[in-house]
Amino acid sequence: MDEKLEPIYDEVLRRNPGEAEFHQAVREVIESLGPVIAKHPEFAERKIIERICEPERQIIFRVPWQDDDGVVHINRGFRVEFNSALGPYKGGLRFHPSVNLGIVKFLGFEQIFKNALTEMPIGGAKGGSDFDPKGRSRDEVMRFCQSFMTELYRHLGEYTDVPAGDIGVGGREIGYLFGQYKRITNRYESGVLTGKGIEWGGALVRTEATGYGAVFFLREMLRARGQDLDDRTCVVSGSGNVAIYAIEKIHQLGGRVVACSDSGGVVHDPKGIDLELLKQIKEVERGRVADYAERRGGEVRYLPGGNIWEIPCEVALPCATQNELTGRDAATLVGNGCIAVSEGANMPTTPEGVDVFLDAGIAYGPGKAANAGGVATSALEMQQNASRDRWSFEATEQRLGEIMRHIHDLCYATADEYGAPGNYVRGANIAGFQRVADAMVALGLV
Ligand code: GLU
Repeated sequence: MDEKLEPIYDEVLRRNPGEAEFHQAVREVIESLGPVIAKHPEFAERKIIERICEPERQIIFRVPWQDDDGVVHINRGFRVEFNSALGPYKGGLRFHPSVNLGIVKFLGFEQIFKNALTEMPIGGAKGGSDFDPKGRSRDEVMRFCQSFMTELYRHLGEYTDVPAGDIGVGGREIGYLFGQYKRITNRYESGVLTGKGIEWGGALVRTEATGYGAVFFLREMLRARGQDLDDRTCVVSGSGNVAIYAIEKIHQLGGRVVACSDSGGVVHDPKGIDLELLKQIKEVERGRVADYAERRGGEVRYLPGGNIWEIPCEVALPCATQNELTGRDAATLVGNGCIAVSEGANMPTTPEGVDVFLDAGIAYGPGKAANAGGVATSALEMQQNASRDRWSFEATEQRLGEIMRHIHDLCYATADEYGAPGNYVRGANIAGFQRVADAMVALGLV
């Protein structure tokens, strides 16, 4: 880290004790910014980095609800509205027992730069709750969503703050949240949430967008090296929305995904994952990958508690959660001949793992660039809502492909310009920061 920037990072540590993931996300960005500050003294003078590290607003609230037996539960709700220099706050909601303020802040901080890289008019935010949807009935999830929105609605608006999904929040939850927002406000304000159902204001391709986008980014990284996905053996961690559509797009582009996972274990399916079966189990039955292994039979192996990164592959897509891929895992992947990593999840690789990939010189696409297709398509959904229009699947997917190519080229060119050719971490951090910083300078000290 540039020694001039060290005091800024030390101050972030001092003011945000115990928030390890937030510290990690901030550190990675600040480590990229030395040359930018040297070139732009106005950013230092206006204290842009210090201001970006401090959320504009942090909302923490009580979420009481009753389960099917009438037992009362109390969860904690969060919304961190991090930065609105480029547009209304935008970012998903995560429902998972691991959610705390530090997790929401790391996600919101990443979202600022990710959203800037899309070049769409959206600021950065994130929210969620420590509510655990696992094992909860549909009605329990609905009551929780209604209680959550009963507080959150006052902070939202299509010009103010526009949430979407993340881990534990999909189309079903967005429906319950939107229904409650509509009821409280008496407004059919479609643009207040994204990831909606197609029949009630949603956009085609939003469901597929994060996974497809990560594969489009991968395709661009490979293309820059004169390579492609054809016949490549791939592994995709996770088995949720991002993983499923990453697998779908890899298969469409000629690659073969031989493994995926969930918190219980890993399935290794050497012939290639049967996506229809996986979708049926995960999206319809809300089951586990162990069920997939049992029903698929044949050569498939289920490894309870297994490590997916030990399965040899040429391409790896971490699509599960933060810090799921360590320095040791990265060394294993590189040792097994992995040539490219594209992150569908947010910050899935630890700093040690990132160093291994960069030192090995493989194509490494960090989440804030590689998984930006989801939020970019959310911005397309907002556009369709604002113009009361509906675009075709083909046109929207083509647009997504162009956006991902553009993000790739921007990161690539920025890394080159700042003397780090092929380093998409530097490229993404600098290009995203620069866009937000320019807007913050223009908007004055607000
Ligand atoms: N949660 C997603 C992300 O990490 C999507 C956010 C959105 O669409 O607003 O980018």
